[in-house]
This record gives sequence, structure tokens and C-alpha cells, in this order.
Amino acid sequence: MPSDRAGFAPRRARAAAELRERQIAALLVSPGADLLYLSGYHLSPSERLTCLVLDADGRATMVCPAFEAPRATAGAPDVERSTWQETEDPFALVASLVRGTGPVAVADQMWAGFVIGLQKALPQREFRVASVITRELRMRKDAGEIEALRLVSESADRAYAGILERPFAGRTEREIGADLAALLRAEGHDEVGFTIVGSGANGASPHHEPGDRRIADGDTVVLDFGGAMRGYRSDITRTVHVGPSGSEDQKVHDVVRRAQDAGYAAARKDASAESVDAASRRVIDEAGYGAFFIHRTGHGIGLDGHEHPYLVRGNQERLEPGMAFSIEPGIYLPGRFGVRIEDIAVIDADGSARPLNRADHAFARVA
Ligand code: ZN
Ligand code: ZN
Ligand code: ZN
Repeated sequence: MPSDRAGFAPRRARAAAELRERQIAALLVSPGADLLYLSGYHLSPSERLTCLVLDADGRATMVCPAFEAPRATAGAPDVERSTWQETEDPFALVASLVRGTGPVAVADQMWAGFVIGLQKALPQREFRVASVITRELRMRKDAGEIEALRLVSESADRAYAGILERPFAGRTEREIGADLAALLRAEGHDEVGFTIVGSGANGASPHHEPGDRRIADGDTVVLDFGGAMRGYRSDITRTVHVGPSGSEDQKVHDVVRRAQDAGYAAARKDASAESVDAASRRVIDEAGYGAFFIHRTGHGIGLDGHEHPYLVRGNQERLEPGMAFSIEPGIYLPGRFGVRIEDIAVIDADGSARPLNRADHAFARVA
């Protein structure tokens, strides 16, 4: 959960102030990271509408199915509830809670079926995405959130140390992925989000889904995995080698490592998000692998695995203390192998980027 319970009311007050400033009547927030951030209520979306209605005066109401009221009370005890019975219309209930004039802003992750239902119930209102407001709040983490990110990152670091002890040769990507998932849980994660295991040529696909390929001696293997602890998410990538490494994969790994170092050096308070991407990319370009670095350098992280700010060309947003994001350059050689190194870093009060992942960056050799 975000920092502590006392944290939620001030967050809603800040969101309400933003609503007034932008002359938006209300924020309509369905299950997801925005709801967790603003209320502490954690639940998966379902076909029954749950929706926090936060109006510009700061009044918050949790619209939820009547039979789930006890759960909503436990999840967000300081938010008033308005419940609907199985045969009632939840959209009319939400509409009745939207007061004042102006547009409404709906959570970016709200299901289309709910958005369309709400549009019918609020025919005079213009609809906006909630991220115009929530991204500004969620991007700037408080001390409790940074601590939660540090703890979950260190848990992922320990899972990585654990996988280095396991045999790779002769086992499938899926088996290594299952080991990683078990290690994440054993090291304190309460949720496993993803385990990418890209061996040999599969590593050239950055988001390869682990499959039945049997890992062999001489393979380069991209390991990218993460999940959540108390809502906050981890995301780490290391690339390992089965047995002694060859000359080109070692060289590519060195380039990626230098690219990540350059990203760290560029990631400072007041630097633009795109300048971090440019710094990492320059190293890879100059080494002659520019065409093979096929994704942005990083993404923000918090209650969502990918959130603002994005470290990508064209994003001139300035980095500020409290912003947390990945620095994850990679090189992907089709038909051959891939290399990526990823840490989560945070901009500290002194303005520099501090790694939250401490796992060794070397091209580790596994058995
Ligand atoms: Zn990714
Ligand atoms: Zn990752
Ligand atoms: Zn990432």
C-alpha cells in the first residue's frame, strides 16, 4: 500500500485542487493504480462497476456493488460509500454524484464498456482522461513510496542472485521463468508480474514470452522480471551467459553497460527525460549498434509497472527529485542474441540518480 493510511486524504485534496484549477467537475476512478493511489482500495476490475467519484470540492464517494461494501470499507475506510444492488443501474448512481459544471475525467484504465455507460448517463459532459491530473501527482513520489520501491527492488535483486545459483543448460526458458517467479515470492514479492527469459536468438525479441526452447551451453540469456510488494512494482533486467562468453556477446554487453552508465550520468534533476535516452543511445550509436537499440531507454515506475515519466525522444519533461524510472538500454541482433541491462533509479534530493537495484551489472556466467 502507498506509504501509510494518512497519505490518502491529502492526495485526494491535491487531486481536487487540480480539478478546480482545470475546471473539471469530477474524477471518476475505476479499479487500478489511480484508485490505489487515491484511496488505498486494491481490487481487480470486473464487470460490476466500482468507481471512486472525487468532485472538485474534495468530496469522495466510493460507488460499489452493495455486497462488496464490507470489502470497500476495509480497503478505503475513510471514503464514504454509495452502493448499488445487482438489478440497479450503477451509471445513474455515478451520474447523480457528479455536481457542478464542466467535464469529467475518467481513469485511463477504465474499461470501454464503463466509459460508454457513463457517457450515456452524463450526456452533457465532456470526457477527459484522468492522467492529466493523476500523472502529475503519481510521478512525484514521497519518501514512503521511494522506500517501498527500494524494498521491492532489493527483493528482485535477491531473486537475481538466487537464479545465478541454478543450472541453465538443458532446462527450458519456461523452467527458468518458473524459478524466477518462485524466487520473487520467496524474497518477499506478494505478486509476480512477468518473467522474461530470452535465450539465444529469442533474446533479440525484447518482450519474448518464455517458451519451450531448451537453453544450451554458449547461450546468452536475457532475464527481465518483476512484480509487486505492497502495491509498488519491481522491474530488473540482467543478461547472463551459459559457460564462457564469446567475443561479440561480451563486446555487446560492454557497450550496453556503458550506455546504462551514460544514462545514469545524464539522469539528473532538471535534465529532460529525452536527454537520458539520448545519452544512452549515443553510446550505442557510436559503437555501431544504433539500428539494434529498438526501444526507448526507460519508463517511470510506481503503482504501475510502466508510468510517467517516459525516457523517450520527444519527451521534454524535466526530471525532479522523487521521480523513479528504469534505465534499460539494449541491443538486439536478430537471429543471434540480445543484451539488456535494467535498473530502477530515483532522482535524489541532491539531484543525482540513485540506483534502487544493487545487483551486479557484470555479464554473469551461469552453468
Ligand atoms: Zn520492457
Ligand atoms: Zn524490465
Ligand atoms: Zn522496464
